[in-house]
Amino acid sequence: MPVLLKKHGFHTADSAKEGARSGSKHAMRVLFVTSEIATLYKRGGLADVSYALPVALSQLGVNISVAMPYYESVTTKGVTCVGQLALDYDRRRELVFVFRALLPHSHVRAYLFRHPLLNNYDDLHIADRFAFFSKAVAQLSLYSEEMLGGPYDIIHCNDWHTALIPLLIGEQSKVGYRERPRPLSAAPKALAGGETIQSKRVKTILTVHNLLYQGETGSSITLKLGFPKPLFHPFMTPLGRAVRLLTEGFEYADKVTTVSPTYAKEIAAGKHGKRVVEVFSRRKDRMIGILNGLDSKLWDPRNDPSLPVHYDASTVVSAKRVIKAQLRKALRLPESEAPLFGFVGRLESRQKGLDLIARVIKKLAGEAYQLVLLGTGQKKLVALFERLAAEHKNVVFVHTFDERLARRIYAGSDVMLVPSKFEPCGLTQLIAMRYGTLPLVRKTGGLADTVHDGKTGFVFTPYTSTALADKMKEAIALYHEKPARFEAMTAHVMGLDFSWQHQVKEYLALYQSLLKSS
Ligand code: ADP
Repeated sequence: MPVLLKKHGFHTADSAKEGARSGSKHAMRVLFVTSEIATLYKRGGLADVSYALPVALSQLGVNISVAMPYYESVTTKGVTCVGQLALDYDRRRELVFVFRALLPHSHVRAYLFRHPLLNNYDDLHIADRFAFFSKAVAQLSLYSEEMLGGPYDIIHCNDWHTALIPLLIGEQSKVGYRERPRPLSAAPKALAGGETIQSKRVKTILTVHNLLYQGETGSSITLKLGFPKPLFHPFMTPLGRAVRLLTEGFEYADKVTTVSPTYAKEIAAGKHGKRVVEVFSRRKDRMIGILNGLDSKLWDPRNDPSLPVHYDASTVVSAKRVIKAQLRKALRLPESEAPLFGFVGRLESRQKGLDLIARVIKKLAGEAYQLVLLGTGQKKLVALFERLAAEHKNVVFVHTFDERLARRIYAGSDVMLVPSKFEPCGLTQLIAMRYGTLPLVRKTGGLADTVHDGKTGFVFTPYTSTALADKMKEAIALYHEKPARFEAMTAHVMGLDFSWQHQVKEYLALYQSLLKSS
């Protein structure tokens, strides 16, 4: 039986203050749970979204907080411990400390969960460790009155890491954890006669940012969590019975969304596996695709501190010249009249089209272009691109995660390559456009929704190195032969609005429809 042990520094006025700030008397309360948040800890696009979407929602008046593990590498100011949770995991009682901070440059509260199992992202048994985190979040939601300033209406989960929460929450409310000792001061006064926080069940949303990663683990996780086995949907693997945390989320979440309309359609058509289609054929609803946006303050070439000069659409041409020259110098690329192509992303052979890039480097040897690749990931790809960079003096590969360099590449390149095999949404093409750099993408998922061939970038369709090479040649030709057209496209894409301003309203409408259906 879990118990609330203690609470520290809890300000009951939090929610009231937040409501007042937003100007709404009864702002809906949402807890957004994720494995990464830009400004605290970032591995990829999920972190960008997990920062920008809650901030945009809070600006619309939603009383939203975010929850994430308190990794050792997270350094943030003004952190307060709000309490401790005791929970049973793997037949032991574990203590999780919950801290609160504000997300930088925002009014959004972040709850950070500290426990040795959550110290690092990269480690063994990662699925089990996120199942543990999910249990802690589910349990915290029981104590929302005491530790979070009031009960939550919605828990918004993201990707496999937190996809178990809908199951855990539903089950906890059923098995009546309310017999736990509760401090008198924390009695649920606000709720009507006999009703408890738990019986007023919180609604859950699961957003899938990438179906490739499903959090597969042995079915012993059910024992470790102490939840009845029949609740899960195990399947056989050569190593024994296993469960996938993501698909458990599909089974139990009240709503499932993904990050672009085209990716949602592809999923429904079975292009990303039959299992999801199967689950949705049993559910009465469908997966909704809401396009990701970009935080226009965090990504702004007019004041990006990583850039040597700042610019807007009217000054992009001259600014880019300066930034490109500095970038070439830093990367030891020779000064050149040739266009500079960039790639920033995870080295993931199943998704990011890196096999195409590798073949194209050989195919386009002798062509007048330069290429800089920044990325971390699979070892075989690191070795491949190190070799290719050593063999081709127009190619540089930087194997690190470096936000500052990434921003200089977005600003200093002429074209950003995003030749993904599939791409749920993709942010690199959006960032490129914001920084006045034309994206060259494959027509899939969110790339298909956001880039238009010949207007806002370059788009190819067949997943072949020939198709990629042909598009790159087209971009190189345009750059040399029609510089005025190239520059006009550059200025045009800078004027496009990919901020969250529009899509955030779709999330708000979704939240409202969920609450109405209570
Ligand atoms: P994904 O989420 O599949 O990794 P996205 O295009 O949605 O891809 O988002 C990737 C985000 O991660 C972008 O903000 C990109 O700039 C950033 N990023 C990826 N790799 C690196 C790296 N090596 N250094 C700095 N930023 C990176």
